Amino acid sequence: MQWFRNWRRERILRRHPLDERLWRSVTGRYPFTRALSGAEQSRLREQVILFLHEKSIVAAGGLALRDEMRVCIAAQACMLTLNLDLAYYRGWVEVIVYPDEFVAEYDYVDEDGIAHHVEAPMTGESWLEGPVILSWADAELRSGDPGYNVVIHEFAHKIDMLNGAANGFPPLHAGMDRAAWSRAFGAAFEDFRERVARGAPTAIDPYAAEHPAEFFAVLSEAFIESPAAVRTEYGEVYRQLAAFYRQDPAARNEAGSRILQVESRGRSPTHT
Ligand SMILES: [Zn+2]
Repeated sequence: MQWFRNWRRERILRRHPLDERLWRSVTGRYPFTRALSGAEQSRLREQVILFLHEKSIVAAGGLALRDEMRVCIAAQACMLTLNLDLAYYRGWVEVIVYPDEFVAEYDYVDEDGIAHHVEAPMTGESWLEGPVILSWADAELRSGDPGYNVVIHEFAHKIDMLNGAANGFPPLHAGMDRAAWSRAFGAAFEDFRERVARGAPTAIDPYAAEHPAEFFAVLSEAFIESPAAVRTEYGEVYRQLAAFYRQDPAARNEAGSRILQVESRGRSPTHT
């Protein structure tokens, strides 16, 4: 069936070209897309076309959803699957986008057996086998807090939930060591909780201390947004994420900034 999948994929790519100007404006927005090589940008573009074909991105709360917004969301989501496969987003279809924070209502029973009803403002939500819900005001942020990216965060939860409820343990590749993953994430999570509890400064969003699933999602967003900080603070977690996502964004950013330096030297005035 591989030939059929390839044929179908090629046909979708042929029939749904992505406007060049729109694509350039979206990839120009984010430092992490600007750092991609030409080949990586082409791969991201193909995934974005397939993503937009497979998923239904719908507006809620009176938002007027434009093509550019759809492409922005798809491009950020596909940064995580760039070297994996869109099949990591299988089993669900809908992305719901609100203009700004939305109110989530849910019920839960606590450890003492007491039922609670909660209404909380949210910037993003991921449902097991259900939709991803996003606040556009947060999704479009180009340069909010470094390391903060609600789109990548919610889609990391989706990848985590491929093997059941979110727990910070996505399905690892053959050849990856599950015990090494647990050791790296377990130790980093404990250390991070302790640092947050005593108010120590950290380059990583303190929300990561909430739960191992949040730790994985926050570290995944920082892995793309501010990879050098993750590599410095939790090197072993960085190595596990690089093996899982099959990319090394810190090295890619360093290579990108070397090229920029060479270019700016090359453009320096020949007479002063
Ligand atoms: Zn989360």
